[in-house]
Amino acid sequence: MNKTKELKCLIAGGAGFVGTNLARRLLEQGASVDCADNFSTGRKSNVADLARYPKFRFLKLDIADAASCNRLLRRRYSHVYNLACPTGVPNIALLGEEMLMASSLGSLNLLKVARRSKAKYLFASTAEAYGDPEIFPQPESYVGKVDPVGPRSPYEEGKRFGEALTRFWGRKHNVDVRIVRIFNTYGPAMSPDDQRVVPQMLSRLIAGKPVPIYGDGSQTRTFLHVDDLVRGLLTVMEKGEGAEVYNIGGATQITIRELFELVKTATGLLGKAVFEKHFIADHRGRWPDTTKIQALGWRQQVALADGIRQSHRDLLASIEARRVTKTA
Ligand code: NAD
Repeated sequence: MNKTKELKCLIAGGAGFVGTNLARRLLEQGASVDCADNFSTGRKSNVADLARYPKFRFLKLDIADAASCNRLLRRRYSHVYNLACPTGVPNIALLGEEMLMASSLGSLNLLKVARRSKAKYLFASTAEAYGDPEIFPQPESYVGKVDPVGPRSPYEEGKRFGEALTRFWGRKHNVDVRIVRIFNTYGPAMSPDDQRVVPQMLSRLIAGKPVPIYGDGSQTRTFLHVDDLVRGLLTVMEKGEGAEVYNIGGATQITIRELFELVKTATGLLGKAVFEKHFIADHRGRWPDTTKIQALGWRQQVALADGIRQSHRDLLASIEARRVTKTA
């Protein structure tokens, strides 16, 4: 019998980009999946797609609200994935407090759910826990360079607090915890309004609008397709050492200027970039050392150009679905 048939998973943040892709994978493997989300940056259309699976259930709730999380305490889970946090750099100014509360109070509430269920618990942290890094690539042992009161701190420090709490609960309350630090990921189920670089470039090119590139575009990132990320999350959940931290991200550094050229070549879209001063302190680069997760058997599989083409098709479908809904 397929082992995943016995899985009862809770995905907090399940209406979001990563949560939806993770939920679909688990449901296709026969697991039952509850997604909890407050739609702060998630999408109802993602939930509607998942609703066709009989073992899917959606719970609209705010993980930072303890009273709402009592509903989760009454259910039993084998695995709890905590992906719930508003995302997107422009949202830091708008939803900074919600980011801090989701990563702190929200993490506490979900750790209680995991303890009650004796479930494995995974906290989705971020490359931004390293801040503006001084060493390349970044191993998990690197403590980072983060300004606790800087403009990005609600996201960065919230995640760092979430990591500390997760690790502490692993030690003190014996919850079987894992922490992943996710680097830039892209792929299907991102919103056309998502301000993260890949969907933003694609959406603006599709709309015939110029694409903003911040600074001179020489800052580097690595990019990982969401299918590779989902494989990484499942690998760490099943094979990861309790209380350990694992980077998950793409292997190859690319500048934002190079990414813009690649997006155009891969999709055939035409358009111009406009170079602008960044609206927030930017990070010069990010590059994960993935030695630890590779030791668990994980490898990046999707080539960037292929993944960009797939994301382009998915965004076109989302834009068309939105147009049809508006005109209906
Ligand atoms: P997303 O914004 O698409 O999904 C996050 C989801 O969490 C949304 O559906 C949102 O509505 C929900 N949410 C936010 N606050 C909540 C709350 N208080 N209660 C309930 N639900 C809440 O982002 P994503 O890309 O899917 O990211 C998932 C997780 O992975 C996040 O925690 C993010 O910080 C982390 N991460 C993602 C990336 C990436 O490149 N996608 C990189 C680093 C870290």
